Amino acid sequence: MVMSSQSVRSDGGDSPFRSAGLADLHLHSVHSDGTESPAEVMRCAFAHGVRTAALTDHDRISGWSEAAGAALGLGMTFLPGMELSMKTELRTLHMLAYLFDPDNAPLRAEADRIRRDRVERAQRMVRRIGKDHHIRWDDVISAAPEGATIGRPHIADALVARGIVSTRGEAFTEILDPGSRYYEPLYAPDPLTAVRLITNAGGVAIAAHPVTSGPESFLSRKEIDELIEAGLGGFEIDHRDNTPDGKAMLQAIADEHDLIVTGASDYHGDGKPNVPGENSTTQEMIARIIERATGTAPRFPDARNIVQRSDDRA
Ligand code: AMP
Ligand code: ZN
Ligand code: FE
Ligand code: FE
Repeated sequence: MVMSSQSVRSDGGDSPFRSAGLADLHLHSVHSDGTESPAEVMRCAFAHGVRTAALTDHDRISGWSEAAGAALGLGMTFLPGMELSMKTELRTLHMLAYLFDPDNAPLRAEADRIRRDRVERAQRMVRRIGKDHHIRWDDVISAAPEGATIGRPHIADALVARGIVSTRGEAFTEILDPGSRYYEPLYAPDPLTAVRLITNAGGVAIAAHPVTSGPESFLSRKEIDELIEAGLGGFEIDHRDNTPDGKAMLQAIADEHDLIVTGASDYHGDGKPNVPGENSTTQEMIARIIERATGTAPRFPDARNIVQRSDDRA
């Protein structure tokens, strides 16, 4: 069913946001480690019933304009986003950022720094793997789309292309896992810095899939409280990798502090089995994200956007 653009836009009532259909606020394109272009990601999300979508490539925003154009053309609402890498002494974590100012200098500089280290870190990993397997840096270059935010998934694709493993998933379990002797850590800010950078850029920080190995796999209660104090907006709870006891723990904290909770797919095209719309975020929560953000506006498929786009063409 294709809805009229008007039915997607706010139509009054208590909430400033009204949208039928599913809302998927965590989608990756070839601008990071997904396998589809931003426009293809939006078309795929639409085909799965998604009517509000965010593009959240790792440490990069270069897919926003293509995704926004495609989403609006389909009558969808588009939220610009990013998945910022962060880490503690114990583990790498991810922070979803929505509606921040894309020109904010400190946040841009940090994302640039992470992306630069992603390349060097991948080269270090490939050097290690190359001692045991027939793989070279050129294989990763060939496997990664031009301009992609380099990540372990591209090393996985190179391992698949070389016939060393048969899928990205197998590459992760056999060779790329943090417990593997080939693993190299990535430069990333600590969680408190990540929340401050995003919040100071007018964005909303939502901890991505925080409890993939249970309640203990995120941060201590004290650290979580510090993040909330620093402006953490909430948690991505409905994600296929979060455990049931982890979700319960996060929901209890969200209830206690009246935080935002989201659900999303973390779609990576063919790179993962995750399907757009497999989890969704409520209208109420999207309205709260929009109300809280000051960095950039959501793109609504309303008359004003359509006029702007026809102006562009003139
Ligand atoms: P990196 O940012 O280079 O450390 O790589 C992390 C990325 O690898 C994340 O985007 C994950 O979605 C992806 N990833 C992690 N485990 C797997 C897996 N088993 N199969 C496919 N992709 C994975
Ligand atoms: Zn990814
Ligand atoms: Fe992630
Ligand atoms: Fe992700």
